[in-house]
Amino acid sequence: MPERERDELERRKAAASSALAERTPFAYASAPESSEIVRIEDRYGLFIGGEFVEPKSGRWFGTLNPATEEVLSEVAEAGPEDVDLAVTTARAAWEESWRDLPGRERAKYMYRIARQLQERSREFAVLETIDGGKPIKESRDVDVPLAAAHFFYYAGWADKLDYAFPGRLPRPIGVAGQVIPWNFPLLMAAWKLAPALATGNTVVLKPAETTPLTALLLAEVIQEADLPPGVVNIVTGAGETGSNVVTHEAVDKVAFTGSTDVGKIIQRAVAGTGKHLTLELGGKAANIVFEDAALDQAVEGIVNGIYFNQGHVCCAGSRLFVQESVFEPVLERLKERLATLRVGDPLDKNTDVGAINSKQQLRKIEELVESGVEEGAEIYQPACDLPARGYWFRPTLFTGVAQSHRIAREEIFGPVLSVLTFRTPEEALEKANNTPYGLSAGVWTEKGSRILWMTSRLRAGVIWANTFNRFDPSSPFGGYKESGFGREGGLHGLEPYLEFEEDGRAG
Ligand code: NAP
Ligand code: MG
Repeated sequence: MPERERDELERRKAAASSALAERTPFAYASAPESSEIVRIEDRYGLFIGGEFVEPKSGRWFGTLNPATEEVLSEVAEAGPEDVDLAVTTARAAWEESWRDLPGRERAKYMYRIARQLQERSREFAVLETIDGGKPIKESRDVDVPLAAAHFFYYAGWADKLDYAFPGRLPRPIGVAGQVIPWNFPLLMAAWKLAPALATGNTVVLKPAETTPLTALLLAEVIQEADLPPGVVNIVTGAGETGSNVVTHEAVDKVAFTGSTDVGKIIQRAVAGTGKHLTLELGGKAANIVFEDAALDQAVEGIVNGIYFNQGHVCCAGSRLFVQESVFEPVLERLKERLATLRVGDPLDKNTDVGAINSKQQLRKIEELVESGVEEGAEIYQPACDLPARGYWFRPTLFTGVAQSHRIAREEIFGPVLSVLTFRTPEEALEKANNTPYGLSAGVWTEKGSRILWMTSRLRAGVIWANTFNRFDPSSPFGGYKESGFGREGGLHGLEPYLEFEEDGRAG
């Protein structure tokens, strides 16, 4: 090769490696999704008996866009009389029609709802993002398609319950009182409604105070699907409304997703009442990376596991355990990857990390992160500009974390990762199980035998191997220990909504 060409080649190589060294992230032009597709009313009543009605309480509250702090709409706050009306309506609908409708007829309504969710998916995705702050690419690619998939999946079971539980003579329980959180508002509504309807129960659903709008749009879809009035009732409000739903004497089955503290209050409240109960509560998942794992793939999984949806994920991989021999390369790649995460406008299609759901949640994250610094862990946050208005938190990573630190023990429910190390599989297992929670875990290794060894010993309801945060309606989900009991999804998710003749005989 002539000398000049060789010099030129050397020069280019040097330039390329210095560009790599600077690791300048790509600058993306903004690509906002238009919000014109959604029409938000000034006010929403309660959805009772197939209609939107004014609250007897006479009270209303605002729901905000957490990315702008703009008030989007006013929503009715259901008082005790409103909850009573919703439950009585659900009971009547159960006794008069739904309970005795053949499964294939129930399925028809559910297929209609599923198809409408697909038909109006953009509208649902934009509304979810505006009301809750999550990036549009998540509401569009995860929340809405999974919500539709849940209705499709459970519609398929509605006329096959005798085959699902052969010889057990399944029958519906009655009225289900369901309370859901703000991190996956539409998806949690689908997780609750679909199995309840498939099994022939009627419902009173209470969405979270900060994210009621997609549940109310779902009410519109339910109306369009001609679901018999009163089969699904949606009562908006805060914690007190939820409490009135779960303690109402005509509610036969309670399904709750939310924090462990509130789960315990509910468990105490329904103890001795004979109500059926399932609880999906908090988590502090361990994501465990062995030295033989595909590290780039693992880093993507780790990032997806904790920074996805701002860490507002009950099964978030908030504790990372890295085998000591690969600690440095994993940490380096993680920091590089963090620097390329785009934080900002949730409606922008390039955004990776959106707005924190509420001011209150932001304070909680800040307080726990401060405790991490005070207790001596080392904090890393990439430089990134945050919007002036709204609730934001930089993706955060802690090293030098001890198991006793609050950031290693308590659920932060934000984009904050605690990195710890281990030497042997036994040590990884012991540390991973050292938590009152047991919702999920992740294992990264090339060895199939190690995956089996770990997964059979990890005390967690859902364990991913060489991936993280993957969901499918056919796969059951739920916790061990203080992460709750009962399963949602799959065949297992039908059972909490059924009584069995066989049990009656045995009892
Ligand atoms: P939260 O405070 O427990 O709220 C959850 C729901 O319960 C909300 O609708 C809330 O209403 C309502 N509520 C509050 N107090 C109540 C009471 N005394 N009786 C009945 N209902 C009551 O939880 P969050 O902080 O909003 O949500 C985050 C938590 O949910 C995290 O701990 C997370 O791990 C957990 N989560 C678990 C799963 C799972 O599947 N295991 C899934 C998602 C989230 P308001 O919001 O209107 O006050
Ligand atoms: Mg809101």
